[in-house]
Amino acid sequence: MLKLKKKDTVVVLAGKDKGKKGEVREIMAGKMKVVVTGINIVSKHKKASKDKPGGIHKVEAPLSISNVQLVCPKCGKPARVKITIQGKDKLRACKKCGEVII
Ligand SMILES: [Zn+2]
Repeated sequence: MLKLKKKDTVVVLAGKDKGKKGEVREIMAGKMKVVVTGINIVSKHKKASKDKPGGIHKVEAPLSISNVQLVCPKCGKPARVKITIQGKDKLRACKKCGEVII
């Protein structure tokens, strides 16, 4: 089970943005990658087309899921997540404070 969801706050564990936090914008489950807003920005050169000028566009490059960790909204720390079962639902909970992270 994938432990990350869109809109989760994650902290980056490796690479040039190590230690930064951001919100998950996209999950590429098949590739085990995530796109995090404001993290891992790369410049892409675009050729000019008929209706758009060319130039350098800054885009967020996907990060490997193993390089980010969920931040617990309650204790604000990178959280190890455990799965708790409540009724029929599998929920994520912070191992530190026990907070269920929806
Ligand atoms: Zn917590």
